[in-house]
Amino acid sequence: MPELNLILLGPPGAGKGTQAERLQVDFGLAHVSTGDMLRSQVADGTELGRRAKDYMDKGDLVPDEVIVDMLTERIEAADAREGFLLDGFPRNESQADTLDAALGRHGRRLSAALMIAVPDEELVRRLTGRRVCVKNPSHIYHVEFDPPKHEGVCDQDGARLIQRDDDSEETIRRRLEVYHGQTAPLIAYYERAGLLRRFDGTRPPDEVHRHLRATLATLRLEEQI
Ligand code: ADP
Ligand code: ADP
Repeated sequence: MPELNLILLGPPGAGKGTQAERLQVDFGLAHVSTGDMLRSQVADGTELGRRAKDYMDKGDLVPDEVIVDMLTERIEAADAREGFLLDGFPRNESQADTLDAALGRHGRRLSAALMIAVPDEELVRRLTGRRVCVKNPSHIYHVEFDPPKHEGVCDQDGARLIQRDDDSEETIRRRLEVYHGQTAPLIAYYERAGLLRRFDGTRPPDEVHRHLRATLATLRLEEQI
Protein backbone atom coordinates (compact mmCIF):
# COMPACT_ATOMS: atom_id res chain seq x y z
CA MET A 1 0.00 0.00 0.00
CA PRO A 2 1.53 3.40 -0.92
CA GLU A 3 1.95 5.72 2.04
CA LEU A 4 -0.27 8.77 2.50
CA ASN A 5 1.61 11.54 4.26
CA LEU A 6 -0.88 14.28 5.04
CA ILE A 7 -1.06 17.63 6.76
CA LEU A 8 -4.26 19.02 8.24
CA LEU A 9 -4.19 22.79 7.91
CA GLY A 10 -6.66 25.21 9.39
CA PRO A 11 -7.22 27.58 12.29
CA PRO A 12 -7.63 26.42 15.89
CA GLY A 13 -11.12 24.95 16.20
CA ALA A 14 -11.53 24.13 12.50
CA GLY A 15 -12.08 20.46 13.35
CA LYS A 16 -8.63 19.05 12.59
CA GLY A 17 -8.56 16.77 15.62
CA THR A 18 -12.18 15.69 15.11
CA GLN A 19 -11.50 14.69 11.52
CA ALA A 20 -8.08 13.16 12.22
CA GLU A 21 -9.63 10.77 14.73
CA ARG A 22 -11.97 9.46 12.00
CA LEU A 23 -9.53 9.41 9.09
CA GLN A 24 -6.95 7.59 11.15
CA VAL A 25 -9.38 4.69 11.42
CA ASP A 26 -10.47 4.84 7.74
CA PHE A 27 -6.98 4.83 6.28
CA GLY A 28 -4.75 3.32 8.98
CA LEU A 29 -2.70 6.48 9.40
CA ALA A 30 -0.79 7.62 12.48
CA HIS A 31 -2.51 10.70 13.95
CA VAL A 32 0.26 13.02 15.08
CA SER A 33 -1.03 15.99 17.09
CA THR A 34 1.80 18.27 18.19
CA GLY A 35 -0.57 20.05 20.63
CA ASP A 36 -1.40 16.73 22.35
CA MET A 37 2.29 15.75 22.40
CA LEU A 38 3.23 19.07 23.99
CA ARG A 39 0.40 18.90 26.58
CA SER A 40 1.53 15.42 27.55
CA GLN A 41 5.11 16.71 28.06
CA VAL A 42 3.73 19.54 30.21
CA ALA A 43 1.66 17.08 32.28
CA ASP A 44 4.71 14.84 32.76
CA GLY A 45 6.83 17.82 33.87
CA THR A 46 9.62 17.14 31.36
CA GLU A 47 12.27 19.71 30.40
CA LEU A 48 10.57 20.13 27.01
CA GLY A 49 7.20 20.64 28.71
CA ARG A 50 8.69 23.29 31.01
CA ARG A 51 10.09 25.15 28.01
CA ALA A 52 6.77 25.00 26.14
CA LYS A 53 4.25 25.79 28.88
CA ASP A 54 4.37 29.61 29.04
CA TYR A 55 4.03 29.95 25.28
CA MET A 56 1.06 27.58 25.22
CA ASP A 57 -0.69 29.35 28.10
CA LYS A 58 -0.43 32.66 26.25
CA GLY A 59 -1.55 31.19 22.91
CA ASP A 60 1.81 31.80 21.24
CA LEU A 61 3.73 29.25 19.20
CA VAL A 62 6.46 27.45 21.09
CA PRO A 63 9.88 28.12 19.50
CA ASP A 64 10.75 25.87 16.58
CA GLU A 65 13.79 24.38 18.35
CA VAL A 66 11.54 23.08 21.14
CA ILE A 67 9.29 21.16 18.80
CA VAL A 68 11.11 20.20 15.61
CA ASP A 69 13.18 17.24 16.91
CA MET A 70 10.13 15.81 18.70
CA LEU A 71 8.15 15.96 15.46
CA THR A 72 10.81 14.53 13.15
CA GLU A 73 11.41 11.61 15.53
CA ARG A 74 7.68 10.95 15.69
CA ILE A 75 7.14 10.71 11.92
CA GLU A 76 10.03 8.27 11.67
CA ALA A 77 8.48 5.92 14.26
CA ALA A 78 7.32 2.53 13.01
CA ASP A 79 3.58 3.31 12.98
CA ALA A 80 4.08 6.54 10.98
CA ARG A 81 6.27 5.02 8.30
CA GLU A 82 3.16 3.71 6.52
CA GLY A 83 1.66 7.20 6.46
CA PHE A 84 0.66 9.94 8.86
CA LEU A 85 -1.83 12.69 9.45
CA LEU A 86 -0.17 15.75 10.94
CA ASP A 87 -2.45 17.87 13.11
CA GLY A 88 -0.90 21.14 14.33
CA PHE A 89 2.36 21.00 12.40
CA PRO A 90 3.72 22.87 10.48
CA ARG A 91 2.63 26.21 11.97
CA ASN A 92 5.01 28.48 9.99
CA GLU A 93 7.14 28.36 6.84
CA SER A 94 10.31 27.37 8.63
CA GLN A 95 8.56 24.30 10.12
CA ALA A 96 7.21 23.47 6.65
CA ASP A 97 10.75 23.58 5.21
CA THR A 98 12.03 21.41 8.07
CA LEU A 99 9.30 18.85 7.43
CA ASP A 100 10.11 18.73 3.73
CA ALA A 101 13.79 18.20 4.43
CA ALA A 102 13.14 15.52 7.07
CA LEU A 103 10.92 13.55 4.68
CA GLY A 104 13.37 14.01 1.79
CA ARG A 105 16.19 12.47 3.83
CA HIS A 106 14.21 9.23 3.86
CA GLY A 107 13.01 9.41 0.25
CA ARG A 108 9.51 10.37 1.39
CA ARG A 109 7.26 13.26 0.41
CA LEU A 110 3.95 14.83 1.32
CA SER A 111 0.83 13.55 -0.45
CA ALA A 112 -1.40 16.58 0.26
CA ALA A 113 -2.18 19.47 2.59
CA LEU A 114 -5.87 19.40 3.62
CA MET A 115 -7.13 22.85 4.48
CA ILE A 116 -10.28 23.04 6.64
CA ALA A 117 -11.69 26.58 6.42
CA VAL A 118 -13.95 28.14 9.11
CA PRO A 119 -14.54 31.87 9.86
CA ASP A 120 -13.20 33.33 13.13
CA GLU A 121 -16.52 33.99 14.92
CA GLU A 122 -17.55 30.37 14.49
CA LEU A 123 -14.13 29.28 15.79
CA VAL A 124 -14.63 31.21 19.02
CA ARG A 125 -17.98 29.44 19.57
CA ARG A 126 -16.37 26.09 18.87
CA LEU A 127 -13.35 26.55 21.11
CA THR A 128 -15.19 28.02 24.11
CA GLY A 129 -17.53 24.98 24.04
CA ARG A 130 -14.86 22.35 23.35
CA ARG A 131 -14.44 19.54 25.87
CA VAL A 132 -11.84 16.78 25.68
CA CYS A 133 -11.48 13.43 27.37
CA VAL A 134 -9.04 13.45 30.27
CA LYS A 135 -7.84 9.95 29.34
CA ASN A 136 -7.59 10.27 25.55
CA PRO A 137 -7.42 13.81 24.13
CA SER A 138 -8.42 12.53 20.66
CA HIS A 139 -11.95 12.10 22.03
CA ILE A 140 -13.31 15.59 21.35
CA TYR A 141 -16.79 17.00 22.11
CA HIS A 142 -18.69 20.27 22.04
CA VAL A 143 -21.26 21.21 24.67
CA GLU A 144 -23.71 22.29 21.97
CA PHE A 145 -22.55 21.02 18.55
CA ASP A 146 -21.39 17.53 19.53
CA PRO A 147 -22.45 16.79 23.11
CA PRO A 148 -21.64 13.50 24.85
CA LYS A 149 -24.56 11.21 25.78
CA HIS A 150 -24.02 11.97 29.49
CA GLU A 151 -22.89 15.47 30.38
CA GLY A 152 -19.19 15.68 31.27
CA VAL A 153 -18.46 12.02 30.48
CA CYS A 154 -16.65 10.57 27.45
CA ASP A 155 -18.92 8.27 25.39
CA GLN A 156 -16.02 6.06 24.40
CA ASP A 157 -14.28 5.25 27.67
CA GLY A 158 -16.40 6.78 30.44
CA ALA A 159 -13.64 9.17 31.58
CA ARG A 160 -14.22 12.77 32.66
CA LEU A 161 -14.38 15.58 30.09
CA ILE A 162 -12.33 18.72 30.71
CA GLN A 163 -11.87 22.15 29.19
CA ARG A 164 -8.36 23.01 27.97
CA ASP A 165 -6.65 25.89 29.82
CA ASP A 166 -6.06 27.75 26.55
CA ASP A 167 -9.72 27.51 25.47
CA SER A 168 -10.59 30.78 27.23
CA GLU A 169 -11.88 33.62 25.08
CA GLU A 170 -8.79 35.83 25.60
CA THR A 171 -6.30 33.09 24.67
CA ILE A 172 -8.48 31.98 21.75
CA ARG A 173 -8.29 35.54 20.30
CA ARG A 174 -4.50 35.46 20.61
CA ARG A 175 -4.31 32.01 18.96
CA LEU A 176 -6.40 33.27 16.04
CA GLU A 177 -4.09 36.27 15.65
CA VAL A 178 -1.06 33.95 15.64
CA TYR A 179 -2.78 31.70 13.12
CA HIS A 180 -3.50 34.54 10.68
CA GLY A 181 -0.02 36.03 11.06
CA GLN A 182 2.17 32.93 11.02
CA THR A 183 0.26 29.84 9.90
CA ALA A 184 -2.16 31.08 7.22
CA PRO A 185 0.74 31.88 4.81
CA LEU A 186 1.18 28.11 4.55
CA ILE A 187 -1.99 27.99 2.44
CA ALA A 188 -0.15 29.80 -0.37
CA TYR A 189 3.00 27.78 0.36
CA TYR A 190 1.22 24.46 -0.29
CA GLU A 191 -0.78 25.91 -3.14
CA ARG A 192 2.50 26.75 -4.89
CA ALA A 193 3.66 23.20 -4.25
CA GLY A 194 0.48 21.87 -5.87
CA LEU A 195 -0.49 20.05 -2.67
CA LEU A 196 -3.39 22.12 -1.34
CA ARG A 197 -6.94 20.72 -1.07
CA ARG A 198 -9.66 22.90 0.45
CA PHE A 199 -12.65 21.80 2.53
CA ASP A 200 -15.61 23.76 3.89
CA GLY A 201 -15.28 23.25 7.65
CA THR A 202 -18.60 24.95 8.42
CA ARG A 203 -20.50 21.82 7.33
CA PRO A 204 -21.48 19.26 10.00
CA PRO A 205 -18.66 16.89 11.09
CA ASP A 206 -20.08 13.87 9.18
CA GLU A 207 -20.23 15.85 5.96
CA VAL A 208 -16.70 17.24 6.30
CA HIS A 209 -15.58 13.69 6.99
CA ARG A 210 -17.26 12.36 3.84
CA HIS A 211 -15.55 14.97 1.68
CA LEU A 212 -12.16 14.33 3.21
CA ARG A 213 -12.56 10.58 2.93
CA ALA A 214 -13.46 10.79 -0.76
CA THR A 215 -10.39 12.95 -1.46
CA LEU A 216 -8.07 10.61 0.42
CA ALA A 217 -9.48 7.55 -1.33
CA THR A 218 -8.73 9.20 -4.68
CA LEU A 219 -5.24 10.24 -3.52
CA ARG A 220 -4.48 6.69 -2.47
CA LEU A 221 -5.59 5.36 -5.85
CA GLU A 222 -3.45 7.95 -7.61
CA GLU A 223 -0.44 6.98 -5.49
CA GLN A 224 -0.91 3.36 -6.59
CA ILE A 225 -0.68 4.19 -10.27
P1 ADP B 1 -8.95 21.67 15.99
O1 ADP B 1 -8.23 20.35 16.21
O2 ADP B 1 -8.86 22.14 14.57
O3 ADP B 1 -8.52 22.73 16.97
P2 ADP B 1 -11.29 20.27 17.08
O4 ADP B 1 -11.40 19.06 16.24
O5 ADP B 1 -10.72 20.12 18.44
O6 ADP B 1 -10.50 21.44 16.25
O7 ADP B 1 -12.75 20.94 17.16
C1 ADP B 1 -12.98 22.16 17.88
C2 ADP B 1 -14.38 22.12 18.50
O8 ADP B 1 -15.37 22.23 17.46
C3 ADP B 1 -14.72 20.83 19.24
O9 ADP B 1 -15.52 21.17 20.35
C4 ADP B 1 -15.51 19.99 18.22
O10 ADP B 1 -16.45 19.14 18.86
C5 ADP B 1 -16.22 21.07 17.42
N1 ADP B 1 -16.37 20.73 16.00
C6 ADP B 1 -15.49 20.05 15.20
N2 ADP B 1 -15.95 19.97 13.94
C7 ADP B 1 -17.15 20.61 13.92
C8 ADP B 1 -18.12 20.89 12.90
N3 ADP B 1 -17.92 20.47 11.63
N4 ADP B 1 -19.22 21.58 13.25
C9 ADP B 1 -19.42 22.01 14.51
N5 ADP B 1 -18.54 21.79 15.52
C10 ADP B 1 -17.42 21.10 15.23
P1 ADP C 1 -5.65 23.69 18.43
O1 ADP C 1 -6.18 22.29 18.55
O2 ADP C 1 -6.54 24.65 19.14
O3 ADP C 1 -5.35 24.07 17.02
P2 ADP C 1 -3.09 22.77 19.33
O4 ADP C 1 -3.45 21.72 20.30
O5 ADP C 1 -2.66 22.37 17.96
O6 ADP C 1 -4.28 23.82 19.24
O7 ADP C 1 -1.93 23.67 19.93
C1 ADP C 1 -1.98 24.18 21.25
C2 ADP C 1 -0.72 25.00 21.51
O8 ADP C 1 0.44 24.16 21.38
C3 ADP C 1 -0.48 26.14 20.51
O9 ADP C 1 -1.17 27.32 20.86
C4 ADP C 1 1.04 26.30 20.60
O10 ADP C 1 1.42 27.01 21.77
C5 ADP C 1 1.52 24.86 20.77
N1 ADP C 1 1.85 24.21 19.48
C6 ADP C 1 1.26 23.12 18.94
N2 ADP C 1 1.83 22.79 17.77
C7 ADP C 1 2.82 23.69 17.56
C8 ADP C 1 3.78 23.90 16.53
N3 ADP C 1 3.83 23.11 15.44
N4 ADP C 1 4.66 24.94 16.66
C9 ADP C 1 4.61 25.75 17.73
N5 ADP C 1 3.74 25.62 18.74
C10 ADP C 1 2.84 24.60 18.66
